[in-house]
Formats: sequence, structure tokens, C-alpha cells
Amino acid sequence: QHLMANASSVDLAKLIDEMLDDWLRIAAEKKIDFGMQRDLSTMAGDPTLLRELIANLVDNALKYTPAGGQVTLRCERVADVVEIDVSDNGPGIPEHERERVFERFHRLPDAPATGSGLGLAIARETVGGHRGSIAIVGAADGEGTCVQVRLPAKPATASLASRSA
Ligand code: ATP
Ligand code: MG
Repeated sequence: QHLMANASSVDLAKLIDEMLDDWLRIAAEKKIDFGMQRDLSTMAGDPTLLRELIANLVDNALKYTPAGGQVTLRCERVADVVEIDVSDNGPGIPEHERERVFERFHRLPDAPATGSGLGLAIARETVGGHRGSIAIVGAADGEGTCVQVRLPAKPATASLASRSA
């Protein structure tokens, strides 16, 4: 473990807005209904890693959800916890794979698009470095995937620890 080099006050809403045009373009091309709910100020963290984290999750949702589907990003601060949920109504991740997809290079056998299998492994590193949690749950209506990230808005100490990737 080592100290996170770039810990600072991160405006997640701003960071999300900077990526929104790209997501909307991809969603429009695929005829995916992209919804967003974001309502928060700032959190302590590494802006580059947090951008990558959210980008990876939304990228997965847009990539694995077939045309005509729905993808939703929710980012809210509830008390001192930042909640980031990325939901889709795509093929879903079977329960017995929900831990393994966080392993490097692990992809589902029927993963339709190309990829290296690193996105979720990196996401988990980043979440760990920020002392948070990440989990895959079924989507609310039983179909699809919801990835839930929970991050402390304030660091426990002045210095954020990070696992090196
Ligand atoms: P990379 O992100 O490195 O380009 P990748 O998307 O294959 O490649 P991960 O993001 O780590 O790698 O995802 C691992 C696997 O989990 C994917 O290959 C896919 O099988 C499955 N997966 C991830 N997100 C979803 C999702 N939203 N819906 C369905 N399957 C998913
Ligand atoms: Mg990915």
C-alpha cells in the first residue's frame, strides 16, 4: 500500500458531465435509452481514477446491453456516502459469476463484444483505494445488471491509501 498521489476534492457531477456527450452519442448510435440522475457536490479522491471507474462501468453497460435497451447512471451523496449505481437491462451477470468478473481477464463465455477483461478489476482496485465497496446485484426488475459502488465522501484520515494497480 502507498499513499494516493493525487487525492483531492473531486466534483463528481462535473466529471460525469464531461463524459456525458460521449455516452449520449454511443447510446444514440445503439438506440439505447440513457438515463442519468446525479445530485451531489464533492468527495475526497483521485479524479483520474474516479473518472476511469465511472467510465468503465458505463462503458460496460453500453457495450453489453443490446440495442433498444436502457442504461441508467445514478450518482448521489447520502450523508457521508457517495452512491454510484450503473444499471442496465442487458443480459445480466449470473450470480455465480458476480465475484469472478472482478478478476483480471475474466470474461463471461458469451460476452458479445471485444474487451480485455480488465475494466472491473481496475474498478475494484480504485474502490479499494478509496475505502469503498463495489458489488454486482441483479437489476431491480430481475433482468440486467446493476453495479453498486459506495465510497466514503470524506477520507478517514488526511491521507488516502491506495493499492497499486
Ligand atoms: P475491458 O473493460 O477491459 O475492455 P471487459 O469489458 O470484457 O473488457 P470487464 O469490464 O472487467 O472487462 O468485465 C468483465 C466481464 O463481465 C465482461 O467481459 C462481461 O462478460 C461481464 N460484464 C461486465 N459488465 C457487464 C454488464 N453490464 N452486462 C453484462 N455483462 C457484463
Ligand atoms: Mg469493461
